Amino acid sequence: MGNKQNTSSLQLSGSKVTPACWRTWVEIDRTDLRHNIDVVKKRVPDAKVIAVLKVNAYGHGMEQVAKTLSCEVSYFAVASYEEGLRLRQAVKKVPIMLLSAALPCEYPLIAKEKFIPTISSFEEARAFAGVSPARAPIHVMIDTGMGRLGIAAAKALQEVHKIAKLPLTIQSFSTHLPSADEDVKGTRAQLAAFKKIMLQLQKIAPCAEIHALNSAGVLRFSKETHCAVRVGLMLYGVSPMPAFQKLLRPAMTWKAYVSLVQKLSKGATISYGKTFIAPHDLTVAVLPVGYADGYPWQLSNKNVYVLINGCRCPLLGRVTMDQIIVDISHAGKVFVGSEAVLLGKQKKEEISASWLASKAGTISWHLLTGIGERVKRCVI
Ligand SMILES: *Cc1c(COP(=O)(O)O)cnc(C)c1O
Repeated sequence: MGNKQNTSSLQLSGSKVTPACWRTWVEIDRTDLRHNIDVVKKRVPDAKVIAVLKVNAYGHGMEQVAKTLSCEVSYFAVASYEEGLRLRQAVKKVPIMLLSAALPCEYPLIAKEKFIPTISSFEEARAFAGVSPARAPIHVMIDTGMGRLGIAAAKALQEVHKIAKLPLTIQSFSTHLPSADEDVKGTRAQLAAFKKIMLQLQKIAPCAEIHALNSAGVLRFSKETHCAVRVGLMLYGVSPMPAFQKLLRPAMTWKAYVSLVQKLSKGATISYGKTFIAPHDLTVAVLPVGYADGYPWQLSNKNVYVLINGCRCPLLGRVTMDQIIVDISHAGKVFVGSEAVLLGKQKKEEISASWLASKAGTISWHLLTGIGERVKRCVI
């Protein structure tokens, strides 16, 4: 707890360890996670929180994030049955919703674990009912513009009437917003359309909870809340829109130890393709992290840097599979074992997920969920 820079006593799965021999790891600050969930609750005070923990909690480490948030949220949501099983081992009591369409072979397994599947048609509901105990909970999605899962809005009333006759419990109705971060007018219209449909569907299943807002929705359309919200990215302290970033605290710091320090002469070429040629003598550090760990290859020659001693150390040449090379000529004393920050804060400098993602030509969600298995996770 406390000082983020102090890595001398980190916790891993409850036991104290030092990352003395880790090559690259992410540190998750619990107080930041708690701050972010408080922001959600302040914006939508009457709503239940569905914490989205898919893809290893957006790269943050599913078990530790789940334990940190278990008393603060009403549901967890993950993509698939397999993710649900992993989550269930970590936290027993919080109901788990599955957000991607399930495969028919998974239905009996989902029913057995009492996970809540997302249903997009009467046929799907009927097949699930066929393998489930009586009154198993389901989550029925209505498509109002995402074009991915859900019953088409125009057919919703008729289909839900049929679903309601099956021996299942409609635990919730939802829709998904495809452009809450980009299109205010369109999203307002979408939410209004959903509200209209819900007036009818609620008569069929009066106890069902209703949810539509994702992170961008909670930040921008908090007045249009329903019973619950499904938040992912903002829980981790990253805003989909820059204007709201200051409300949140990024919980992740991605670090690596310097594994080698090298002196290169003027004219030396660096990394595959020899795309960087030393314009003068240089001191470089090699870091044991590469694109196989999720540090995007697309960051090659995009003027990005890592932080060492609180200084910006430019990435030189291409990102390789397991290692990157950075210029430490202006970073003071750097040794094998010095700590480098690839994402997050060090002293007065900060590398944000949105900035790094945009440099790689991608989005924050992709950057975070791409952080690989070799990267250790710990909470502070
Ligand atoms: C992943 C996901 C979310 C979370 O979205 P964020 O933008 O990360 O808040 C919400 N709803 C559904 C259906 C999802 O698949």
